[in-house]
Amino acid sequence: MRSVPDAEMELLRQHGVQITAQRLALLRVVAEQPHATADELGDVVREQLGSISRQAVYDSLGVLVDKNLIRRIQPAGSAARYESRVGDNHHHLICRTCRTMFDVDCAVGEVPCLTADDNHGFEVDEAEVIYWGRCPTCRADAQTDDPTDPTKQPRQKSKETS
Ligand SMILES: [Zn+2]
Ligand SMILES: [Zn+2]
Repeated sequence: MRSVPDAEMELLRQHGVQITAQRLALLRVVAEQPHATADELGDVVREQLGSISRQAVYDSLGVLVDKNLIRRIQPAGSAARYESRVGDNHHHLICRTCRTMFDVDCAVGEVPCLTADDNHGFEVDEAEVIYWGRCPTCRADAQTDDPTDPTKQPRQKSKETS
């Protein structure tokens, strides 16, 4: 459990990032828990390293994002999420109900994936797509909620995610 993989240290070194225990720990935790928020990541790192301020977590994540070691995804209406899968222009599926996020491969297999109808003279190097919808679990829940009502009346039932 305590074996610090040299791969991560090497990664920081290669990208010219000063190696600190916090950055190493964050890099590792982001790889283990893709799409976690900064606060979730901070909680895990705090368990490993002791007290780290929220600001320090944000600062370290910012450095890792700037150096392209991790990727930040900012879905509308949600805290930013982080992941270590970088550089492959993959996209995301997000459940509107429970906010679960899944990776989906780049539809075309190479950047920028989508071709803009009119690129206004830009050299487009990335297309970031978020597919919004409802995940299988939430769909199943909805079906058991109202099996007979196709008009989808909003239910006021509080939904505890288990
Ligand atoms: Zn869901
Ligand atoms: Zn992802």
